[in-house]
Amino acid sequence: MKGDSMTIEQLLERAAKYMSDEHVQFITRAYQYAEREHEGQFRKSGEPYIHHPVQVAGILVDLQLEPATIAGAFLHDVVEDTETSLEQLNEHFGEEVTMLVDGVTKLKKIKYKSKREQQAENHRKMVVAMARDIRVILIKLADRLHNMRTLKHLPAEKQRRISNETLEIFAPLAHRLGISTIKWELEDIALRYLDPQQYYRIVNLMKQKRAQREQYIDEVMTDIRDNVKELNVEADISGRPKHIYSIYRKRQSKRNSSMRFMIC
Ligand code: MN
Repeated sequence: MKGDSMTIEQLLERAAKYMSDEHVQFITRAYQYAEREHEGQFRKSGEPYIHHPVQVAGILVDLQLEPATIAGAFLHDVVEDTETSLEQLNEHFGEEVTMLVDGVTKLKKIKYKSKREQQAENHRKMVVAMARDIRVILIKLADRLHNMRTLKHLPAEKQRRISNETLEIFAPLAHRLGISTIKWELEDIALRYLDPQQYYRIVNLMKQKRAQREQYIDEVMTDIRDNVKELNVEADISGRPKHIYSIYRKRQSKRNSSMRFMIC
């Protein structure tokens, strides 16, 4: 799913795998409402605006989150960017969805500027305190992930500011919530904008080394599996190559060792 976008049909199909018909109808209604409200609005990429909330909701459907969160994701920009009021949302979708949308709207208003670690920690605490409900942060993370995926459409100065904020505030929040796939993707895209030279260097080295790396991981996995079998323990073993940002961090802290070694 990384990279390409999800259609509303695909999204509803995936939702139907873990939601009741009634809940699928509920989130469909949220989609239709958002589509109507955002009608005539466009993203910087030139796409109809509704494409964005659909991708945000899609990221959360892939995490199999509950219906109010998915409805909240479809509607997360309507209060800020359309004529819809909180009262109207409440009337159509109830208190829970309204509270989530209100939470996401309020989070947009706190701006992060500093680069100092202490400030970053305070800012993360403020985001958590303001969100009150963890689902507000989940919607915000999915929103940020899709905005990062489409960052190329913004001016360079904004790309850097948003990437910096992503690295210092949102990736650590994703980490704390245990959503590693979102954390890694946020970090990798941020690095691409903050240090493109190093980013592409690592990407190229990884490409060259991919076959070797996969073979190495396979061998280690087979070894571990054999050992586990001998011990008569039930275990599910899987390996993964490191993501780009973690290689970058290692490289920053071990300037002298060879990158070749770290990628393996
Ligand atoms: Mn948004």
